[in-house]
Amino acid sequence: MKKFPFVTMVLFISYNSIFADGKIESYKSGLDRTMSFPDTEEYLTISTDLHTHSVFSDGHVWPNIRVAEAQKDNIDVLAITEHLEYQPHIMHIPHENRNAAYIEAKRAASGTDLIVINGSEITREMPPGHINAIFVKDANKLYKFDQNFLPEAKELIEERAQGAELPEEQMQVLENYALGNLYPALEALKEAKNQEAFVFWNHPMWGSQASDGIARLDDMHREFITKDLLHGIEIVNTGTYSEEAFNIALENNLALIGTSDVHDLIEWDYDAHNNEHRPITLVFAKERNEASIKEALFDRRTVVVFKDRFMGRSQYILPLLKSIISISSNGYREGTQILKIEIRNNSSTYMILENLSEFNFADSDDLISIPKNGKVTLQVKTLEVLNNIDLKFKFLNALTSPKEHPVVSFRVST
Ligand SMILES: [Zn+2]
Ligand SMILES: [Zn+2]
Repeated sequence: MKKFPFVTMVLFISYNSIFADGKIESYKSGLDRTMSFPDTEEYLTISTDLHTHSVFSDGHVWPNIRVAEAQKDNIDVLAITEHLEYQPHIMHIPHENRNAAYIEAKRAASGTDLIVINGSEITREMPPGHINAIFVKDANKLYKFDQNFLPEAKELIEERAQGAELPEEQMQVLENYALGNLYPALEALKEAKNQEAFVFWNHPMWGSQASDGIARLDDMHREFITKDLLHGIEIVNTGTYSEEAFNIALENNLALIGTSDVHDLIEWDYDAHNNEHRPITLVFAKERNEASIKEALFDRRTVVVFKDRFMGRSQYILPLLKSIISISSNGYREGTQILKIEIRNNSSTYMILENLSEFNFADSDDLISIPKNGKVTLQVKTLEVLNNIDLKFKFLNALTSPKEHPVVSFRVST
């Protein structure tokens, strides 16, 4: 009898550890990193990070950390997109199943609002470089290590190693990477299409694959686009932005994508003390579910948010800006033709507006800065007392194409 409490305790502990679901409940909250954006009149505004890594390829955290970070940032959709062919930790974290990170993340997010989607990074030298397939059904079918190509793979490695002696386990990683590279990207993308995946070109401006930092379409990319195997392009990746990629997207009807591509910790990459956030893609969906979000991506309904900038096609940026900014009247100053107004910013992004209205202000020049989730008051010299006025602003922190800032008008009842 005496032993009974001890036995119960042991069972209780092992029950918890055996059935642990990977949920992280005890991290200190730290600084508020919440990102928030209003819905538009027509669509729900869904925030996504569609390109991240964990220890199941070359990242350095377990997938449940990715989930906890996404929740901390108030992100709606997370994809963990492991390199299928580059698996530097495989010796110490052996796994046959390339869906493992997804399974772990999905488990950690169960019962919460976070939508976790299955994705993979198809990893090639240029061309075509790295390509993400998301909403995949089985990542294992997207890569192949064909041992028949082993002599060719060894040649590739020798070329790269340039005589350097590599440890055995690193050799195995490189061998698989080289074998994976020899499996044609076209075949991988055909399988992605077979699984009805949404596919985008990653970091086309990456210095390691484009030494001048210029994103350029290769004939191979053109072929993928023509065959409807490539649907989007990253114009933003981690801390980088590419005007060339932005133009490629607009000229080739590709979805504009911005992602963190995080490998370590979001908190290390983005300094919350300086109000930095990871880049995200806003997706304008009819409903808050996987099918609707996927449909929106295929329809190119996206806006990238990066370093307090919005980047997107005007048909999606304009309604978003209309929802982010709301203007109301506080009435005329007594005995004057000066109208007091309040401009509210309903987003977690700092907004910078240039006044293009026919009126100017009694208490400000033509540049209006509105803090995140904040407001400013202004005094408009309307010259006579009016029932309503039209105010027109250029949004200096929004882009509808490289260097093009959208202009939005607001009618204000006085
Ligand atoms: Zn990559
Ligand atoms: Zn990546």
